[in-house]
Order: sequence, then C-alpha cells, then structure tokens
Amino acid sequence: MRDKLREFMSGRYGSDQLGRFTMGVGLVSLILYMFFHIRILYWITLLCLIWYYWRALSRDHSKRSEENLRFLQIEERITGRFRTAKKEFSQRRDYRFYSCPNCHQRIRVPRGHGRISITCPRCRNEFIRKS
Ligand SMILES: [Zn+2]
Repeated sequence: MRDKLREFMSGRYGSDQLGRFTMGVGLVSLILYMFFHIRILYWITLLCLIWYYWRALSRDHSKRSEENLRFLQIEERITGRFRTAKKEFSQRRDYRFYSCPNCHQRIRVPRGHGRISITCPRCRNEFIRKS
C-alpha cells in the first residue's frame, strides 16, 4: 500500500507558491461560504481544490514551474506597487510624487518650491507641476 502510494507520487510536481496561493484562496472562500452560504464561493473552493491537486499531481514540471514563475511576476508587480505607495505615503510631508506623462516613471520632488519644471530622469520629458 505504501509502495503503491510512493509509486503514484513519484515524478509528480507537488506544491509551489502558486499552489499555496490557490489553497489559500480556496480556504478563504470556504470560510466565507460557511458564513454567508453564497453559492459561487462553494464553486470557487471546489475549483481551487481541483486546480491545486491537478497541478500538484501533474508530471509536466516545466509547464507547472512556468505557471508558477508567471504567478510570482504578477505577485511582485502588485506587492511592488504597494511598497511604492507605502513609501510615498510615508514621505508625503516633504515630497510630492508625480508620474511622468510620457513614460509613467514615478518622480519625487521636494515640496514648497511653487510651480516647477520637472525633467523625467528616464526619458528626459519635461513637464510643469506644483511642488
Ligand atoms: Zn519619462
């Protein structure tokens, strides 16, 4: 029995960050479902479970790690945005933050200098803002 299980599990992909995230979403939706009995949450939980096990039991390691990598990139983009927002919020007394209208680079300028011309350090685009 044990050998059968080991044989079944050998070469399987197993868990990764995307897997744990899927499980987390499934768990949260399960808990919400228990409280609110909203049908869609039940299906989300089920889909998360199925997807988690489908990926964990998969033998196509390269496809699965590719998915995981894509997930990590998206996660980094989101957490990076939060980090930036947090940093800008903590410096809001001394600095103003603008996005370059041309390339969207975030630019920090000291407050209290009236209307100033800002040159984007990335693309050299110039624009006027209140500091
Ligand atoms: Zn720019």
